[in-house]
Amino acid sequence: MTQSSTAGALYLSPEMESALRSAIAPAQNILCVSHVSPDGDAIGSLLGMGWILRHLGKQPTLALADKPAADFDYIPGFREIVGTSGVADDYDLIICLDASSPDRMGAVYRPAAHSQIPLLVIDHHITNTNFGSLNWVEPGCAAVCQMLVYLADALGAPLSADLCVALLTGLITDTLCLRTSNTNAHVLQAAMRLTEGGAQIQEIVARTLQSRTYAGLRLWGSVLAHATVQKRVIWATISLAQRKQVGAQEGDGEGLAGLLASAKEADIAATFSERVQSGARVVECSFRAKPGFDVSGVALAFGGGGHPPAAGCTLTGPLDAISAQVVAALQEAHQMQASGQVQPVGVAAHG
Ligand code: 5GP
Ligand code: MN
Repeated sequence: MTQSSTAGALYLSPEMESALRSAIAPAQNILCVSHVSPDGDAIGSLLGMGWILRHLGKQPTLALADKPAADFDYIPGFREIVGTSGVADDYDLIICLDASSPDRMGAVYRPAAHSQIPLLVIDHHITNTNFGSLNWVEPGCAAVCQMLVYLADALGAPLSADLCVALLTGLITDTLCLRTSNTNAHVLQAAMRLTEGGAQIQEIVARTLQSRTYAGLRLWGSVLAHATVQKRVIWATISLAQRKQVGAQEGDGEGLAGLLASAKEADIAATFSERVQSGARVVECSFRAKPGFDVSGVALAFGGGGHPPAAGCTLTGPLDAISAQVVAALQEAHQMQASGQVQPVGVAAHG
């Protein structure tokens, strides 16, 4: 058995492999969709799935409800991503990537038109609600892009340079460049194969993790000045007014929760960002936890989801009231986890 098939067998059982084959083989026109506010794993897995399907002679439509950031335009096929208006009613199969619940597909998925079409869910969130007709959910994988390396192997699709750039993007962004607690030997092995196939870690890092706008940095500055730490939880709110003041656009200032999580005085970090989504004001809540702590449960309790060390939810209401309510829940979860009353899921999931 080769090294690559060993890792694949660990995360893709023979039963699942044959179920995936049976789902994909007869389909020709396939809608692929990932989550709203798409990140590197959403965009990388969407474009990667597109390349895998094209290698198999299929016709994929790649759709995102929200416009992907131009930072990712170096990934081959980026310009073929369509918005909601580019989605038809009729497909042989829908493949949903990196989304833990159906609402995460946004307006791309219209139940009235699409609910009769087979839905294949490929995801790595421990909070996934198994909403597909077939669900391949593997929380042991650090990114959906890692899962797609095993899928490509299973379906006999070559790791072409196009595919490698797409998949390494998600693997690098979801692991913060191979630094998160779930970065194990299999992640490194997948990254090695994608690098051998023509993708470059340094180029992806320069385009994504190491690239910020001046307005985004100024937003961090104004927000950090008001960050609060209490009961080992650190948090900050980002209002629309603060964004406007520094000229920050949608997407500027991403990643602040990760920075807050580096505080020695805290185990859990949160940001609360006011956003306008489909004309309505919402608050995007972003959580991070240090190893041994788990924020996925709180996210799930508020209708969101994620992983033990990184999770989130989207709520409607006034920024201050929401942050107060959610911070209290995070502090309570922290207290329970610190006193050993609740075994953090993360210990098992990322051990
Ligand atoms: P981030 O804080 O980077 O936006 O998200 C961290 C993790 O939480 C990601 O895995 C993301 O999918 C998940 N997440 C963030 N916001 C939401 C949300 O509103 N709903 C759900 N289901 N998951 C979310
Ligand atoms: Mn992901």
